[in-house]
Amino acid sequence: MNSLIILGSTGSIGAQALDVAEKLSLKVEALTANSDAKKLEEQARKFKPRLAALADEKAAAELKIKLADTNTKVLSGIEGVTECAAFGENPTVLNSIVGMAGLRPTLAAAKAGRRIALANKESLVAGGKLVKTAVKENNAELLPVDSEHSAIFQSIQGCKDKKEIKKIILTASGGPFFGKKRHELKSVTLQDALKHPNWSMGAKITVDSATMFNKGLELIEAVWLFDVAPENIEIVVHRESIVHSLVEFADNSVIAQLGLPDMRIPIQYAITYPNRFESPVGSLNLAQIGKLTFFEPDYETFKCINICRDAINRGGLYPAAANAANEEANELFRKGKIPFLAIGDIIEEALLDIENKEEYRLEDVEEISDAARERVRRLSEKYTL
Ligand code: NAD
Ligand code: MG
Repeated sequence: MNSLIILGSTGSIGAQALDVAEKLSLKVEALTANSDAKKLEEQARKFKPRLAALADEKAAAELKIKLADTNTKVLSGIEGVTECAAFGENPTVLNSIVGMAGLRPTLAAAKAGRRIALANKESLVAGGKLVKTAVKENNAELLPVDSEHSAIFQSIQGCKDKKEIKKIILTASGGPFFGKKRHELKSVTLQDALKHPNWSMGAKITVDSATMFNKGLELIEAVWLFDVAPENIEIVVHRESIVHSLVEFADNSVIAQLGLPDMRIPIQYAITYPNRFESPVGSLNLAQIGKLTFFEPDYETFKCINICRDAINRGGLYPAAANAANEEANELFRKGKIPFLAIGDIIEEALLDIENKEEYRLEDVEEISDAARERVRRLSEKYTL
């Protein structure tokens, strides 16, 4: 097995990836994060990587002093993080950065021909074509860490011809506001939105689960990962988060992957594929769970799903604009600047009249993302709490 580089190691997925690395006795070559020098120092002292980087320059300077007595070299800025993504002999690069800040590092790992274990779905949503091209041209590998996509990937092992895949069925927990109607969500707070029923995750993705924008991002992620048309991707709400997703084949046979909701299974599989090893995750006891339930999503209340479906149908830069608009609106809600329902309303309005391009470069993705963020900030001024 290869050694490992973890981008975003101080986050929820990053910490679980380090747990997996420890249990598999994997050598960790590099660790990166945004600004948490204290946590990165702890991790670096434990795992002894050759490189560490913090995107925040001030925090990186602090880390350099903290690690002065070790053999870990400290880099700074997004350039430093990106350098780590292409570092070493042939490590697996696990990208668990949150947001499209992960795009440059994903591209760097692809250009270096690495196996990329991708948790950072935003990089694929924003720059899908760029990532796919770089992976193909450099013989890199793109393996999903997102639980639904790992389930789909596991379900298509043995499928020799992609044409046999008729439909992908993405499961969604429905988040903390499942069953609620719009009028009941008018005054929900950040605290309410952070109460996810089944998963403990970073704040941004937890809010994305509450708006269900996360499922929209995952729909686009599935299009890029599995070359399946958006109309062949269905979403079903499954409250228990036991069936992680399903694939229907040409003969209407359906294959699914099940397991307890614990990200260490998909993280480990992306690292050890095609092999499997013991994991610290408990075994599934179906009789104890008793029943599994499935529902049609409420697309009116959770309009963000169809905002994303529309964006991928339009193609080009639309998914990048939708992703960036969501990153900004999600952040404004977390900062207490806009009410919960404004997230979807503002994104929808921000995406009107986007100047789309079918063919694009990284600079176009970054430009449209900045413009979408700016529009969201402007539109948010109409809303008060
Ligand atoms: P998190 O907020 O807990 O961690 C994010 C990590 O990214 C941190 O280490 C942070 O320091 C780093 N980071 C943030 N901004 C950065 C920047 N500008 N430059 C460099 N590094 C930066 O988030 P998380 O819950 O671990 O999620 C990470 C990614 O994995 C997201 O894309 C999320 O959608 C995806 N994901 C998470 C889960 C989960 O269970 N947490 C499940 C599926 C997918
Ligand atoms: Mg997921």
